[in-house]
Amino acid sequence: MTQDTSDTRRADLVLANHILVNEGVLDGFGHISVRDAARPNQFFIARSMAPGLVTLEDIVVCNIDGAVIDAQNRRTYVERFIHSEIYRARPDVQSVIHSHSPAVIPFGVTSARLRPICHMSGFLGVTTPVFEIRHSAGESSDLLIRNQLLGKALAELLGNAAVALLRGHGNVVVGTSIQQSVFRAIHTEKNALLQSQAMQLAAAAGSVGDVMYLTDAEAKAASDMNDEHLDRPWQMWKRQVNHA
Ligand code: MN
Repeated sequence: MTQDTSDTRRADLVLANHILVNEGVLDGFGHISVRDAARPNQFFIARSMAPGLVTLEDIVVCNIDGAVIDAQNRRTYVERFIHSEIYRARPDVQSVIHSHSPAVIPFGVTSARLRPICHMSGFLGVTTPVFEIRHSAGESSDLLIRNQLLGKALAELLGNAAVALLRGHGNVVVGTSIQQSVFRAIHTEKNALLQSQAMQLAAAAGSVGDVMYLTDAEAKAASDMNDEHLDRPWQMWKRQVNHA
């Protein structure tokens, strides 16, 4: 078992950027961060750049107010406040991912709620909250979480959940480790695809409401089980990026 230090977290953060691109969660946009193990009021995140190109030299330190602490004055992402405000509100959270992963988008713009359809996505819980930016920023915003106030509103909406959707934009996923947040982000996308297919199938069979979801207790039990095996897919994803 490797030790969990600021150095191992930075190295895993680089890998996680590449894994999430490989798995279709991040593309040229989106970002992942990890809390600094030694300084809980700071977190590591890449400078503003495409996630697939991130190296260890591109990782910067950001504080809980969303300010980058960097001798070279490098910048990070406009939407860094998603990360800073969730770290402030949720001491249990060690890693945050914001993506525009495509299959999830429809669930933020319709009345269909994202719900756990199989045991790999029990972490979703019984309903996934949707952030409506119009409530905080009016009807002409660019939809980005570009300041502390919007970050705080999103963190409040997230509450104790693992995932929140951003209407017309994307989603945010949190975890108690990088391995857990990566697992959850990948399976949020997969669940959205499967749920869309199941809903279409049910509609074609003439029974629109007839999709069977996990119960709350099933979701919790399945999620606890998967949390014991996070290293298994992580090792596989790691190998795949190293061979890419
Ligand atoms: Mn975004």
